Amino acid sequence: MESCKLKNFKYQGVIHIHSLKSDGSGDIETISKAAQKAGLSWIIITDHNHFDTKEGIYNGIYVIKGEEISPKSENHYIALGINKQIEPNENPQIYIDNVRKQNGIGFAAHPDEFTRRKNNYPPINWNKDLIPDGVEIWNWFSCWGDKLNSKNIFTLAFSYLFKHRLISKAPQKSLQWWDELNSKKQAIIPAIGGVDAHALKVKKCFLPFTIFPYKSMFKTINNVITLKEPLSENFEIAKEQILNAIRSGNNTIINRHIHNKIPNIEIGNSIKSAHSGEILNLDKTTYLKVEVNKKALIKVILDGRELYECVAKKCNLLLTQIGKYRVEILINNKGFAYSNPIVVI
Ligand SMILES: [Zn+2]
Ligand SMILES: [Zn+2]
Repeated sequence: MESCKLKNFKYQGVIHIHSLKSDGSGDIETISKAAQKAGLSWIIITDHNHFDTKEGIYNGIYVIKGEEISPKSENHYIALGINKQIEPNENPQIYIDNVRKQNGIGFAAHPDEFTRRKNNYPPINWNKDLIPDGVEIWNWFSCWGDKLNSKNIFTLAFSYLFKHRLISKAPQKSLQWWDELNSKKQAIIPAIGGVDAHALKVKKCFLPFTIFPYKSMFKTINNVITLKEPLSENFEIAKEQILNAIRSGNNTIINRHIHNKIPNIEIGNSIKSAHSGEILNLDKTTYLKVEVNKKALIKVILDGRELYECVAKKCNLLLTQIGKYRVEILINNKGFAYSNPIVVI
């Protein structure tokens, strides 16, 4: 039997970035330079209620625009693949529908953040009765904000100096909700990870400085998309490749601060193999393979229930059930990687 295990191409990028157009501090030139230094291939700028960033290739980085639709209270929505700005509304169903009308895809932003931000866009939380197209399962800034204890000056100083230590795992509540949404549909409800980078400038201190500069944020939560062909040099074609991968769930979310080697996660049989966002038939040879390059806790989740876990650098598991499989990888009890589901039928 002829095997068709094709070569894949992986590209790291960052989603959920704010520029000067909303509450971030950098322009596209600054942000793309930081992305280049962080070793990324692509970024998606998502300013609050704003959609006139000029897309293109800057400093070798594919810069795509999206919008973080942000009503005055709650339900921020990361809209990607849209053509024109979508107004926020106190009824979120209206903008969820408007994203779909433009053939875009929307992700419930920071759905479980519980600290109210002190800025012009106080979110927070997502109304779980609403059905988004996708979920931002991990948001760096939300996790940091929720852990921050500003009552104690030492804790506060620690939180700024050792900010990455506050980031532990993707919130369990968000993962659970994402699994529930996936269980209701045959198609994959995709997940993304966001950094929510603002590079806020603090001017009132004795020395002006930038909190969470873009470059340092870009080395945290990345989205690794997997493509069948290399990214095109033509921006418009590459943009479609990137957005299609995100839309299909051909994307694994990693925290580079924990480990900087892309894990290999696939389900295969004697004929072919499938990665995040793909479908494969179950037969007697169907296996799941995870390779991490470092000792890790590898968890296999089937239809929202934990099926298997092991502590190892790699694992191979023979599969006997159909369903949606996803993988979580933890290193030293911190979240490192979260795959999108692979569907076995
Ligand atoms: Zn937000
Ligand atoms: Zn944001």
